[in-house]
Amino acid sequence: VDNEFCCWCGKPAAEGEHGYCTARLALIDPPRYCPSCGRRMVVQVMPTGWVANCGRHGERTSTSPAVG
Ligand SMILES: [Zn+2]
Ligand SMILES: [Zn+2]
Repeated sequence: VDNEFCCWCGKPAAEGEHGYCTARLALIDPPRYCPSCGRRMVVQVMPTGWVANCGRHGERTSTSPAVG
């Protein structure tokens, strides 16, 4: 698993409580931060899903959120 950072709040995944973040992500929210580096991603929300782009790690989409 390369998720070192919480992709909803951007804090280190090993620190703090991310139950709320996980719940939000499981519902409708797209990720806002790159899980690999914690940088803020450019997120586009579309009717079909979302596309999130990290300047270092490239694109993730709602259909392949773990790629990268
Ligand atoms: Zn979090
Ligand atoms: Zn990244």
